[in-house]
Amino acid sequence: MVSRPAFIALGRLLMLIAVAAVAGLVFGGLLFWLVGLLAAALAWQLYNLFRLERWLSLREGKLPRGVFGVWGQVYAGIYRLRSKHRERKKRLSRVIKEFRRSTAALPDASVVLNADHEIIWLNRAATELFGIRKADRGLRVDNIIRDPVFVDYLRSVDQDAPVEIRSPSKPGARLSLRLVPYGGEGQQMLLGRDITDRIRLEKVRRDFVANASHELRSPLTVINGYLDSLTSDPELPGAWRQPVCDMSHQAGRMQAIVEDLLTLSRLEAGAKKPARDRVDVGGLLAMIRKDALSLPERPGTIELRLDSEADLTGAENELYSAFSNLVSNAVKYTPATGRVEIGWSVDERGGHITVADTGKGIPADAIPRLTERFYRADKGRDRVSGGTGLGLAIAKHVLERHGATLEIESELGQGSRFTCHFPPERLAPGDNVVNLQQA
Ligand code: ADP
Repeated sequence: MVSRPAFIALGRLLMLIAVAAVAGLVFGGLLFWLVGLLAAALAWQLYNLFRLERWLSLREGKLPRGVFGVWGQVYAGIYRLRSKHRERKKRLSRVIKEFRRSTAALPDASVVLNADHEIIWLNRAATELFGIRKADRGLRVDNIIRDPVFVDYLRSVDQDAPVEIRSPSKPGARLSLRLVPYGGEGQQMLLGRDITDRIRLEKVRRDFVANASHELRSPLTVINGYLDSLTSDPELPGAWRQPVCDMSHQAGRMQAIVEDLLTLSRLEAGAKKPARDRVDVGGLLAMIRKDALSLPERPGTIELRLDSEADLTGAENELYSAFSNLVSNAVKYTPATGRVEIGWSVDERGGHITVADTGKGIPADAIPRLTERFYRADKGRDRVSGGTGLGLAIAKHVLERHGATLEIESELGQGSRFTCHFPPERLAPGDNVVNLQQA
């Protein structure tokens, strides 16, 4: 649709042609008048165009005065667009400034990297924690943070779990690093947090538990010794027999808890990687089965099924405590009429130790929490059953240290199956394809 000023402009042009026609008729030389007046109109338009071009080249041009009609509209339209654009730019730069100010003030280090891991931007904390300076922009980040753990993490495909390294610039500090996708074109944000205090607190907690358990061990041994002598003393008055037996039972439980806490502390404080001794799995499981058979209240059948002769590499004492915890649980939570089956097999996914029972089973909602310390599926009864509540926590810890996982399947009233899955690299060299069934 033609706007009103455009309509007026068109009217003016027609009027001009009419004036030229009348002047040509009155004074003669129609063509001269027509060309003359049209040339004047063209000059006027060119003048306005020139003015517009000059105005556009001014960055902060105000709306010029005395411009009407179509040109007035063109100026007003452009002026509106420019104002809007300027406003948006101001808003955007305010947001960017605000973002930079807030990330600069963050105690966590942030570094923006391009797809080639070159540094694009960094905040103040990045200088303190990583030792990266503004002048390092454009350099690859692994030229500055050279810790092999970080270099591997930078190259790995799975970057979901953060890694921990020593700070390259802040003495004694430990950092947790995480890479997250940022913006487009393969950019990433490297986030670093100082976790020195958290690690120190964890150590204080671990040391406290280890020291408390250690301090409790000696007095408990003395108490247990006296209570043992008392329970077997024929001269103990009849009225005292039951209370002394109860005390002896509870003191025994306390000693078992202290021993399990010490085992956990040892596992946590020990070297990051367990020993790589050759462990005879068949022999180890046979020994655990023999121990289980000697327990007074046990299910009628405890079977051992060895489908493989393969050995594992790891710390024998740790593996013994993990497997014997699983077997003693199966024995503890299975009635005398039930059965327990211990199995060892190997396939292309690795080695698998299974402890299956036909016991009371575990409610589905309790399964994910079983390996938490002191967690019991049946709070009242499981405590009475004499367990420490730490057996599965120990088992999980040991398995994690050996790169293995614990799978728990169970159905209430039907029984449970605990399977330890060891990766192929944990099988002793030369043993990873030996399978009794195939032999
Ligand atoms: P506890 O010393 O109490 O047995 P654990 O850490 O070994 O502690 O086990 C945690 C809880 O898991 C137990 O209290 C029990 O509720 C449940 N549980 C473990 N093994 C079995 C099993 N084979 N059958 C039924 N429940 C089990």
